[in-house]
Amino acid sequence: MTPHPTSVRMVRCPGCGGDSRYASDNPWRPFCSERCKTHDLGAWGEERFRVPATEPPDPSGGAAPNADPT
Ligand SMILES: [Zn+2]
Repeated sequence: MTPHPTSVRMVRCPGCGGDSRYASDNPWRPFCSERCKTHDLGAWGEERFRVPATEPPDPSGGAAPNADPT
């Protein structure tokens, strides 16, 4: 009985729409690559959570935690 040959199942990459190897050696499946996976997730997050590019400055300036009880 011969073992089944390594049948690589090809699926369509949701990221780029190209061929993606749906195999155990493809950790990004069903995406074709890390780039497609991260790009998809990034686009998702960016669309839902649109964060400002610049962070507000630290509004501190009141209590100074540098008090020395000596
Ligand atoms: Zn892709």
